[in-house]
Amino acid sequence: MEFSLIDRIRQRTAQGRDDVRLGIGDDAALLAMPPGQELAVAIDTMVEGVHFPIGTAAVDLGWKALAVNLSDLAAMGATPAWALLALTLPNADAAFVDGFADGFAQLAQAYRLALVGGDTTRGTLTISVAVHGFVPPGKALTRAGAQVGDVVLVTGTLGDAAGGLQLVQRGGRSDAQASYLIQRIHRPTPRVAAGLALRGHASACIDVSDGLLADLGHICTSSHVGAEIEAALLPRSSALLDLFDDATSCDFALSGGDDYELCFTVPPQHVASVQTDLARLGCGAARIGRIVEGRGVNVRDREGRQLELVHQGWDHFGA
Ligand code: ADP
Ligand code: MG
Repeated sequence: MEFSLIDRIRQRTAQGRDDVRLGIGDDAALLAMPPGQELAVAIDTMVEGVHFPIGTAAVDLGWKALAVNLSDLAAMGATPAWALLALTLPNADAAFVDGFADGFAQLAQAYRLALVGGDTTRGTLTISVAVHGFVPPGKALTRAGAQVGDVVLVTGTLGDAAGGLQLVQRGGRSDAQASYLIQRIHRPTPRVAAGLALRGHASACIDVSDGLLADLGHICTSSHVGAEIEAALLPRSSALLDLFDDATSCDFALSGGDDYELCFTVPPQHVASVQTDLARLGCGAARIGRIVEGRGVNVRDREGRQLELVHQGWDHFGA
């Protein structure tokens, strides 16, 4: 597509890194791996009307497209380094591209992440970002490795993005609490530092993109274990609790997607030190349950009764 659009992106995301031998502008980027590290790579696509509401601000999309990918690197305990961006635009809208690149750069700068290439085409607004990060050999966090008796924890708070989405769809509210929840859906915070801190401590880790039940379910499947969660322990923000009733906020925390917190498992004897580390990083980590024998995720209410679960999370190809 138009060279000027690519050039705008290049200028606005410029990031000096010694390991980028050749960045945007040639047929491929040339990148130097740090010796002895493993490369963690991930890609995520966002389609207008599917992954974000029509009319979402370009600057928020730029941030979020990178954030959801950094969240995947965080869940692996990888240090972000490089990204590729495939942008499909309905038209050559320079203002949109500028806003998008600025949002992307705001987050990229925080990690000295370099945008090293991409592709620009015409079509329904669709954004694919691929990220590359480094991890010492054998040290990556994975979904496998949770052991019976491990404690299940989650960073930050859950359900905010689902609450924010509902507020966006309803329209109207614009007080501080509503703004906070809406910010949580548009500008998720990838827990990169938390992922790095969990290396060597967590037995399994995943980022909560499709909802806690679905994502913790993935840990259970990969680790061949079950999990028991206590609804009363789900960390929920005061904004969510003030704007929604208990049952709704609980449902959002269990099944809402897009929070991009980390859900992870830790052997009981290491929980206190992990919680101290993550509190120091500012996100904190709440214990929400434990790993048990069996399969799947069970949720218990305050009285210890097993909850009937209707939604198990976001399935793109589900009914
Ligand atoms: P080619 O035809 O070789 O694929 P393009 O015209 O698609 O070349 O891209 C030219 C250069 O601009 C390449 O280095 C490519 O990586 C980069 N590029 C294209 N689109 C983007 C984008 N949206 N973001 C970042 N870099 C891009
Ligand atoms: Mg191309």
